[in-house]
Amino acid sequence: MINIAPHLRAVRERIRAAEERFGRPPDSVQLLAVSKRHPVTALRAAHAQDQRRFGESYVQEALVKMDRLIDLDIEWHFIGPLQSNKTRPVAERFHWVHSVDRLKIARRLAEQRPITLGPLNVCLEVNLSGEKSKSGVSPDELPELAKTVDALTGLRLRGLMCIPAPEPDFRRQRQVFARLRRLVEQLSSDGLQLDTLSMGMSNDLEAAIAEGATIVRVGTAIFGPRGG
Ligand SMILES: *Cc1c(COP(=O)(O)O)cnc(C)c1O
Repeated sequence: MINIAPHLRAVRERIRAAEERFGRPPDSVQLLAVSKRHPVTALRAAHAQDQRRFGESYVQEALVKMDRLIDLDIEWHFIGPLQSNKTRPVAERFHWVHSVDRLKIARRLAEQRPITLGPLNVCLEVNLSGEKSKSGVSPDELPELAKTVDALTGLRLRGLMCIPAPEPDFRRQRQVFARLRRLVEQLSSDGLQLDTLSMGMSNDLEAAIAEGATIVRVGTAIFGPRGG
């Protein structure tokens, strides 16, 4: 395991520098530490440095970690592909889901969310690459899905999420993130109250912040390469 504290500090510094460079208010970008395929010791190390938001992609792995970290105050975010037979534990134990991309999943999460916990925060994942194999709702189908999900009791629609293909060029990174920003602006002008753009990872968080990211999801730059 790498020494997490200096890596976490460096990522926070990148976020702070990008906020300043692109005219974003200080602390307008939240850091989600993506801990999938990293051991609970790594999460404890990040938590000891005041990291509270963690992102996981695999339901079974996340549930084991939650049980072992029950003593810590962690805000859990589900960011992976979600199958309909796995929605119940996600609805019951996570605070956020970033990867909702179809109505069936949204309906199940809404029905299965315990009332006592309050609404589950959700983002809709948008497929900006147009590849059929990729997860995410298409920009064409987004407005209808957003309106329907927004009306579901048990969920609170917060915004949009995307996972662009790896792209080294900063200008082109920005172009993709700008499309997600414009989609959220469009939905807002249609009357939805959205406050979240979940975009930007280890290699493109500056471009995402330039285009209005409110949550960046960072794994490798904090925890190092993932295990098998
Ligand atoms: C793994 C993952 C990340 C983190 O990616 P890094 O390149 O390791 O920072 C972010 N978002 C999602 C949806 C992921 O699956």
